[in-house]
Amino acid sequence: MTAIEAGVVYLVGAGPGDPGLLTVRATQLLEAADIVLHDKLPGEEIIAGIPAARREDVGKRAGGEWTPQEYTNHRMIELARAGKAVVRLKGGDPFVFGRGGEEMEALAAAEVPFEVIPGVSSAVAAPALAGIPVTHRDHASAVTVVTGHEDPTKPSGSVDWQHLARTDATLVILMGVGKLDEYAPLLLTGGRPGSTPTAFIERAGWPEMRVITTTLEDAVAIRDAESISPPAVIVIGSVAAIRSAVQRWGIRL
Ligand code: SAH
Repeated sequence: MTAIEAGVVYLVGAGPGDPGLLTVRATQLLEAADIVLHDKLPGEEIIAGIPAARREDVGKRAGGEWTPQEYTNHRMIELARAGKAVVRLKGGDPFVFGRGGEEMEALAAAEVPFEVIPGVSSAVAAPALAGIPVTHRDHASAVTVVTGHEDPTKPSGSVDWQHLARTDATLVILMGVGKLDEYAPLLLTGGRPGSTPTAFIERAGWPEMRVITTTLEDAVAIRDAESISPPAVIVIGSVAAIRSAVQRWGIRL
């Protein structure tokens, strides 16, 4: 196993938040890094495991506003050029909706050497931890991972919800809690039955993880009644009903 090198940025996926779901490589790099740049998504357990003197929060600031992406890019480059071994720690996998691709491009443009360490993405880990297989021979032979954060009225380049409604793929929606009222009706008018099993998996892998199952037609009301808040993954498809059938024997379900 290669050791850590000075002047290199490691784009590391932290997995969903349980330290047991960090990769071996991620754990080694977190121990050896001169500095870890992180946001809140890796979760308190993983972040608290890094000595405070060796970590910097580039997520939400005290004032509540987000650190601009340019600052994070600039900070990674500056620290690497100063000869530090830098870990940029991102929740899940660095390249699944995490702007890790943009960070890698910024490093390459600045001629800073980097290494990518994949992580266990919440897109599959959150359903798995909830006892929901995203594919199953009797239910779904495809899975679509999609962002729920785009404005559904945006004319181009946006998610075509009505098209997704017509497929029989399991839908795994990230960043989808807030705009559920906007896209759930599009799935219904697009042809997904109102009775389609739907699951919210909130803070998967964190000590306070919650799983709530409902149907597509009741999903918005349940989100509000249960005050479901990010980070949460939403699974829409008949696989979401498997959880309740197996729950009694899943020792962490
Ligand atoms: N790169 C990350 C995703 C970043 S986008 C990954 O691969 O998991 C942020 C979204 O990911 C959140 O809004 C939420 O939908 C999802 N997410 C990330 N971690 C999560 C967790 N521990 N539990 C539930 N959802 C999570």
